[in-house]
Parts: sequence; C-alpha cells; structure tokens
Amino acid sequence: MSGPVTGNDVPAGDDIGPHPDTLVFERHASRLTEVGGITVRRALPKRPRRTIGAWCFVDHFGPATGPVTDLMQVGPHPHIGLSTVTWLLEGEVLHRDSLGSVQPIRPGQLNLMTAGHGVAHAEETPPGTPTTQHGVQLWVAQPDATRNGPPAFEHHAELPMVDLGGWQATVLVGGFDGVRSRARADTPLVGVALDATDGREATVPLDPAFEHGLVVFGGQVALGDERVEPGELIYLGPGRDGISIRTDRGARALLIGGEPFPHPVVMWWNFVARDRDEIEQARDDWQEGSPRFPTFESSLARIDAPPVPWRQ
Ligand code: MN
Repeated sequence: MSGPVTGNDVPAGDDIGPHPDTLVFERHASRLTEVGGITVRRALPKRPRRTIGAWCFVDHFGPATGPVTDLMQVGPHPHIGLSTVTWLLEGEVLHRDSLGSVQPIRPGQLNLMTAGHGVAHAEETPPGTPTTQHGVQLWVAQPDATRNGPPAFEHHAELPMVDLGGWQATVLVGGFDGVRSRARADTPLVGVALDATDGREATVPLDPAFEHGLVVFGGQVALGDERVEPGELIYLGPGRDGISIRTDRGARALLIGGEPFPHPVVMWWNFVARDRDEIEQARDDWQEGSPRFPTFESSLARIDAPPVPWRQ
C-alpha cells in the first residue's frame, strides 16, 4: 500500500504546532480514497495535522474481501525520504523492491522499508492468498541525517508484546512499557498495535515528550472520556504520561507517536522532501528510468508519476 498523496490530503494552510502547556485532544475524520484496488481511510496527512512525531501518512485499508485481483495490487513505484511501515490484521501481501527483497507479510509481522535517497517497490496480492485483506500502511518522514542515505528493508516476523490487562500491546516501532522493538527508528518514535478480544479497560503509558495519535481498526473504543470509532484519528498533544483506553466488546487500534518532527515536510505523490525542487527531481528521475530507482521483477505494471501540479 502506498500513496499517492494529493492536494486533497494537504491543502495549503498553516499547520497547528504542538501545545505543550495544555493537554490537547483533537478528533479528525479520515478521508476515504482508493489505492491499488481497495478503499482506504486516510488518517494522515490532514490539514492541519500533517505529522504526528515523524509519522506523516496513515492509510487504514479494508477489510476488503474478493478475488485477489480486487485486492491490493500496487505496481512498482518510487519513494524518497520516508520509511514505509506495513502491518496486517488479515490477509497477506507480497512485497518486492529494488533492493532485491521478496517478502510476504502476514498478520503479526512488520515490514519496514526505508527509502533514503531512493527506492522502488511493489505490493502484490499473490494467487492463493486469503480473500480478505485488512491492515495499515504508514510512512515515517526521515530526518536530515538519513534522508539522503541508502535504502534498506527489514522484515520482523516477531515483535515484543506487553499485556496491559487484557489489552495486548504489540510494539511495532520504538519503546513501550519497558520493551523495545528491534525495528529501525531514525527519530524518537513509537508505534503500538492494541488489541482486546472482550470488554477491557487499561491505562496506556505515554511518553510526555511525544505527541500521539490513535486510529481504531475495528470495534468501539473510549479513549479517556471520548468515544472513538473507525474512520477517525485522535490527536493527543504532548504532556501526557498515560491515558485510559476501554472497550465494551473488544477492539483493535493503533497508537503512534513521537517527538514533534522538527523539519518542514513537503509531500507529493510518493515522495517526502523539504522543498518542491527535490520532489520534481525525484519525479523526473523516476519517469526517466534513472538508476536512482533500480528496476526489479514484478507481475504488475510500473506506475507513472503524474505531472507536478505547480509546473503545469
Ligand atoms: Mn509504496
């Protein structure tokens, strides 16, 4: 799963900065869009929230059921300046990339691909896989220290888990409640899947230096005193050391967070950069078949970049 990000996601406007003196709680509706054949709920980027920590993109896709041709089929496309984080609740996806990686991902596992200066990948639903797909793909903006560096790919078949009193927390990225994922994190970051199979209430520990976001995949959740449903993003400003989470019948959710990202982020299509010149260069390099984005085998057609809107 992947972008593209369009102007609808991030219309021009001033971003809201963090408010360290108050406990900010914001509710944002996700935007419905379509990527690679399935409907996604895009929680980030949103005006006025473009980032939560370095998390800059959240696509909750499915649950979608059908023949594999109707499920995720995203042909080769490029990325720069970001890491893609893929987490499945149901189904299977085959990841291929320009580093030579060929990696199926299944529920409970993590794929993390870092683009740096440039990478290309495809996400296929191979024949014979389960007919329901449900999951999330997130992007993490890379800091200046690594964003022009080499690409990389990681697959984590096992991730640390914590029992928060009936809520199972799987630590995808960063540290949480005393355990730490081995997945790469270029900035102070956390990503945790939260699952309860029946009615449960727990306290989710939070780093007060982080801002956080919560997306509900299924079921109903009360976060603090507020009810949250699928299709919403809750933004929690810095300053909290924990928040209560409750479900009456079971629920699945994702917590993300990190230190507010210190760099301006320009996102267009599948690129995260600092200015439009970098975006245009990456677009042209992809269209011209530059070795910046090496070719690799895929059963799917390569995806052409649209023209950049500001150059028309
Ligand atoms: Mn992608």
